[in-house]
Amino acid sequence: MHNMSNKLTQVKSRIQQAAKSANRNSDDITLLAVSKKQSFENVLELVQQGQQDFGENYLQEAIEKIERLKDHPIQWHFIGPIQSNKTRSIASHFDWVHSVDRLKIAQRLNDQRPEHLPPLKICIQVNIDEEDNKSGVSPSDVAALCRDIAKLDKIEMHGLMCIPDKEGTDAFTRMQVLFNTVGDEIKLHHWDTLSMGMSADLEEAIGAGSTIVRVGTALFGERKV
Ligand SMILES: *Cc1c(COP(=O)(O)O)cnc(C)c1O
Repeated sequence: MHNMSNKLTQVKSRIQQAAKSANRNSDDITLLAVSKKQSFENVLELVQQGQQDFGENYLQEAIEKIERLKDHPIQWHFIGPIQSNKTRSIASHFDWVHSVDRLKIAQRLNDQRPEHLPPLKICIQVNIDEEDNKSGVSPSDVAALCRDIAKLDKIEMHGLMCIPDKEGTDAFTRMQVLFNTVGDEIKLHHWDTLSMGMSADLEEAIGAGSTIVRVGTALFGERKV
């Protein structure tokens, strides 16, 4: 038997503590279990403990898990970089995509979303520290991109996602300000999601309004390389 239920309990209690310190309701924060490079057995174990949201970065690996777990009530989130030739498969297998960073990708996801599925929920990935080699749209381009994506009918725009450069900057606070500014400027019906915070910094992210924390290592242990 693994110690995964222990780790799940620990991470949930970190979320609760952080919510309490920030005077927030912990029900407003979703724990996304990042299962990239983790075995099917580990994922299944968390599912059996009631975990419902899982995040994956690599499509092929994700699809195998999705098909094997299709009888369980799971929300699958794609959180990795997106190449154009992968959009069809992402649009048909996932409930959420956190890493949209250009209109072309949003358009393809929209056009390729199967008719029988509800609209795909998305976040825009923001390159909040404006790093050269990081995916994500620059903060000053977020509002314009949101406006364009909002016109697509098989896509539901929920908010913003980031992977900050390093700890100890105010990246999460800048994301919160950007999220509120864009939300005020463009009235979007489903604007409710700030996807930020990982194993090492989920407390800081929750303090700045995060609604989805994406946690891998703290739940599963180190990833296989
Ligand atoms: C791997 C990954 C995570 C989880 O990181 P941990 O430090 O293992 O919690 C979160 N978000 C994204 C986009 C990732 O690629």
